[in-house]
Amino acid sequence: MSVQPIIRMGHPTLRQVAQPVSDADRVSADMQQLIADMVDTLQAAGGIGLAAPQINRSIQLAIIEVTGGPSRYGTIEPIPLTVFFNPVITVLNSAEAGYWEGCLSIPGLRGFVCRPQHVRVDYTDVSGNKATLELQGFLATVIQHEFDHLAGRLYVDHIQDMTQLVFEEEWLAQQALIAP
Ligand code: ZN
Repeated sequence: MSVQPIIRMGHPTLRQVAQPVSDADRVSADMQQLIADMVDTLQAAGGIGLAAPQINRSIQLAIIEVTGGPSRYGTIEPIPLTVFFNPVITVLNSAEAGYWEGCLSIPGLRGFVCRPQHVRVDYTDVSGNKATLELQGFLATVIQHEFDHLAGRLYVDHIQDMTQLVFEEEWLAQQALIAP
């Protein structure tokens, strides 16, 4: 197990559509190593999600771990560490809300992105079972951000007003002025 380098915006892998994972590949020793590396890498980076393309593996695999609890967005439900293979998102309600998103592949920046706030995700879990998760609010945004990576998309692609792409340090300074 080891922490892997996270590639950044500009690396072509982040713009590729990732390949589906077959059952044979899913159970391979290489895959178990990759998942362990992704968990180490996510926890070392202090993020809430990591997609395989972010460590330069263009396959349909992502992990998410949300601690939950109170936040600026209200109380967030936790998501225990979950491995997603070949996820498919279905929008259940197209009503959107916006959040200031950040990305481990775009360090130092934040952007305001509006996305649907009620989605379902169908995926294959770490044991090979078909699984479904229904998510609302901030968690719906998290999962769309993460699975965008598997389609070669980044959050900056969704920013409608480019004045809403900012450096995180400046953003944090302004937040402190608004709510000390
Ligand atoms: Zn990201």
